[in-house]
Amino acid sequence: MTAEPSSHAALVRRARRINRELALLYPDVHTELNFCTPLELLVATILSAQTTDKRVNLVTPTLFARYPAAADYAAADRDELEKIITSTGFYHAKANSLIGLGQALCDRFGGEVPPRLRDLVTLPGVGRKTANVVLGNAFGIPGITVDTHFGRLARRFGWTASTDPVKIEAEVGALFPRRDWTMLSHRLIWHGRRVCHARRPACGACALAGLCPSFGEGPTDPVIAAKLVKPGPFS
Ligand code: SF4
Repeated sequence: MTAEPSSHAALVRRARRINRELALLYPDVHTELNFCTPLELLVATILSAQTTDKRVNLVTPTLFARYPAAADYAAADRDELEKIITSTGFYHAKANSLIGLGQALCDRFGGEVPPRLRDLVTLPGVGRKTANVVLGNAFGIPGITVDTHFGRLARRFGWTASTDPVKIEAEVGALFPRRDWTMLSHRLIWHGRRVCHARRPACGACALAGLCPSFGEGPTDPVIAAKLVKPGPFS
């Protein structure tokens, strides 16, 4: 286990080294949801709640072809929409969000997805996490996406002690330049999915072993740890 940094500057230095290591490890990180437009990413992200990106990617080709614009969701037949998205789970609530989303986009934003956090979070089914995914990946505006993987890894790295997504976003954001936020989010999520699992992280097979203050939280034996690694892809 590495020593705790003695100063904020040391914490920042180590955090940025971890980010550089992750960049080498995952040179082609991206959102694992398939999309072509901001609306498609917004819809896919809403559907990804409580399910896997892989499952969402199975339904979105049909969904996006049937509902290409916000107005199409606003006017959707609920039964038909629910049928298409059933396999993503919670389909009543998700259908409500998508129909409400289409109506709100048409009523307040001319049918377009607004490129601002404070507007995005007013839309049905859209919280800060979803808003930051859309800003970072569809508009190129830096955003930190705090999902369960991001929060867990940020705590393991000693970047925050909080479990509150808004506090995590602020505390981690203060350690990195804004331009790094979107890719950093992808890298932590990818590492969390593949190596640094919630239960039994693969410490003995982790490229961050020499930098991570939580090394030893999972098995350190390389052979045992290697079996815990999930290679992906997850889409
Ligand atoms: S797998 Fe272990 S060493 Fe690697 S980041 Fe997670 S806790 Fe740290």
